[in-house]
Amino acid sequence: MGTLTRSLKIGIIGFGPFAQFLAKTMIKQGHLISATSRSDHSGHDGIHFYRDMEEFMGLEHDVIMICTSIMSVTEVVKSIPFHCLKKPTLFADVLSVKEHPKQLLLQEVPEDSDLVCTHPMFGPESGKNGWKDLNFMYEKVRVRDEALCSSFLSIFESEGCKMLEMSCEVHDRLAAGSQFVTHTIGRILSEMQISNTPIDTKGFEKLVQLKESTVNDSFDLYSGLFIHNRFAKQTLKNLEGALERVKGSLEARMIKEDGHK
Ligand code: NAP
Repeated sequence: MGTLTRSLKIGIIGFGPFAQFLAKTMIKQGHLISATSRSDHSGHDGIHFYRDMEEFMGLEHDVIMICTSIMSVTEVVKSIPFHCLKKPTLFADVLSVKEHPKQLLLQEVPEDSDLVCTHPMFGPESGKNGWKDLNFMYEKVRVRDEALCSSFLSIFESEGCKMLEMSCEVHDRLAAGSQFVTHTIGRILSEMQISNTPIDTKGFEKLVQLKESTVNDSFDLYSGLFIHNRFAKQTLKNLEGALERVKGSLEARMIKEDGHK
């Protein structure tokens, strides 16, 4: 993939925290950004914000990026007035689960428009000092305009992201065993209300950081990771089983000790 520097006209649907974070770098790179969302997000520097979805869809974007929450994506995509498109457009999504938006977009996006499903494996916290060496997963689901797709992907490639091409299915299987575990442990630590002590070990400091970074993401995002990743149910069972086994081995040891007294 060559590093192309073509300036793109990018439209964003769903202008929440993650879209705002991505838009900053895109603007810095010289792309032209417009956005639409459920709530009014007008007033951001360099963003043309549209309340009217039909007007937004008629803007002749090169790329339309779907950045809405996992839980709302079906409702949002089904409400897009695709008939207002004036030309074939590259649709890209950035959702943290991949099979679900892939199936939905294949159903809903007009046949003459291309489709790339992506997951930047970082967020406003982990990417605040740049995107170098951060993972970026993508699947070219339906791409005929290779040059346009490369220009879009080079937004991330040129920032130094590690570009990983894989199927949405492989992504969801791997993410259930990694990202979903991370978020679940972070949420459990938050339920336990852990916080720094004067005698923190390095390991504990990392747990506090994990707790803080996971609860910064919305509960909508976390529930989406579970509900719309078919592999996550098994991960939750594995976690519960693992806790029971760890507890079991401690209890067995305690019984053995008591027997020696
Ligand atoms: P999020 O809570 O997952 O999504 C917030 C966005 O969803 C906002 O644009 C919000 O619109 C929209 N939304 C929520 N419910 C809606 C509804 N019922 N109808 C219409 N729109 C609705 O937070 P996020 O962190 O910004 O994530 C956005 C997407 O990026 C998600 O799919 C997430 O999985 C993905 N992602 C996030 C990260 C991250 O680190 N945060 C990293 C990679 C990928 P309004 O603001 O207009 O209300």
